[in-house]
Amino acid sequence: MDSPMNDRNGEQILPGRWNHLRKILERPGPFCHPDFEPSPEVLNFVSTSCKVLVIGAGGLGCELLKNLALMGFQQIHVIDMDTIDLSNLNRQFLFRRKDVGQSKAEVAAKFINSRVPGCKVVPHFKKIQDFDDEFYRQFHIVVCGLDSIVARRWINGMLLSLLVFDDDNELDQTSLIPMVDGGTEGFKGNVRVILPGISACVECTLDLFPPQITYPLCTIANTPRLPEHCIEYVKLIQWSKENPFDCQIDGDDPAHINWIYEKALERANQFNITGLTYRLTQGVVKNIIPAVASTNAVIAAACATEVFKIATSCCLPLDNYMVFNDVDGIYTYTYEAEKKSDCLACSSETKIIEVENGAIKLQQLIEQLCENVAFQMKNPGITTNIEGKNRTLYMPTVKSIEIQTRENLKKSLTELGLKCGSQLIVADITNPNTLIVGLKFADNNKMSVE
Ligand SMILES: [Zn+2]
Repeated sequence: MDSPMNDRNGEQILPGRWNHLRKILERPGPFCHPDFEPSPEVLNFVSTSCKVLVIGAGGLGCELLKNLALMGFQQIHVIDMDTIDLSNLNRQFLFRRKDVGQSKAEVAAKFINSRVPGCKVVPHFKKIQDFDDEFYRQFHIVVCGLDSIVARRWINGMLLSLLVFDDDNELDQTSLIPMVDGGTEGFKGNVRVILPGISACVECTLDLFPPQITYPLCTIANTPRLPEHCIEYVKLIQWSKENPFDCQIDGDDPAHINWIYEKALERANQFNITGLTYRLTQGVVKNIIPAVASTNAVIAAACATEVFKIATSCCLPLDNYMVFNDVDGIYTYTYEAEKKSDCLACSSETKIIEVENGAIKLQQLIEQLCENVAFQMKNPGITTNIEGKNRTLYMPTVKSIEIQTRENLKKSLTELGLKCGSQLIVADITNPNTLIVGLKFADNNKMSVE
């Protein structure tokens, strides 16, 4: 007799389809979480109740959706704002030639839903910023396959803002949504499990993501060793000197790439450097890091396994950061990333930005918020409270206010009424919430907090 539970799990359609999962979920084992109780109910929870949000339907996202669907998850949502490009088809295997130009989330969901009986993937052809806390609160687990650090930081901030603390400042465990985050770059990848408010968050380890790969200018100019150095030389120095097309470099214009390629090749020959190709030139000029299908597959598999472990408690989750590299053989290492006591996102400590003195301009303060490794903001807007009144100093995201406040950029902090110890209220796309930042002048020995 088929019980209604079996029916919900879709076993009537495919008898025995979850036998492999039952072996893990209905028996105890040496690696189980201490709270794990083997039972058919665990599989029932995975397939009928557990709601998983997949962010990104690209290289990692396609793998994640396929893995999760085949591991029994049937309540899946996926968000992706992108459309399918021809160059995605070699690895984003849920897409076909006829799908080019369509929404990744929608096509991926349709593919999974038609292929995996019982699985319901709900697509959202949107940005993560288009949804509010009510939307995110409905999920049990969030798994990210993103190529953007800004988006990662934003969702990290969102999940942190959902945390509820009681009067004794104890975390209400039901408000916690675990986040599994995968990332790849060529042959390198990483997986991390974040328990917001408990373990290290994305911002705690922000210094692991240096702003961009750059080569020291002195190396590029004087002692090139790599073909990349030669390409960078032409891109940064020779182009503006010779100005061959009377315009800026357009990475999509073959004539531009060809010119850079030929000049870089001359330089490479001069320094006996080999390996310079047209393709590499285009990659360096456009800053392309080639996506590698096998790296995506490994990282997504590890992420899906973590989601399964968190959902079922059948095994202890990753603690908490795994790096992977398959450039030359396979290397992997797992360590525990630590919570940063003054983390921008997950610590309650007041954040401090230190500038030289009150004479620096607002523009320079904004540049510091972008360049300082602890902040790495993208386009911050600043408000402050002067003598009980809220005052917008600069707000780049709203056109009319930007025009009104643009003049302030040239004014000094002192002219704007800011002192050492003033509080800045900073808004940026890297976080859904505003941030209180204390202003400190380096030439003031004592900091007076207002
Ligand atoms: Zn943190």
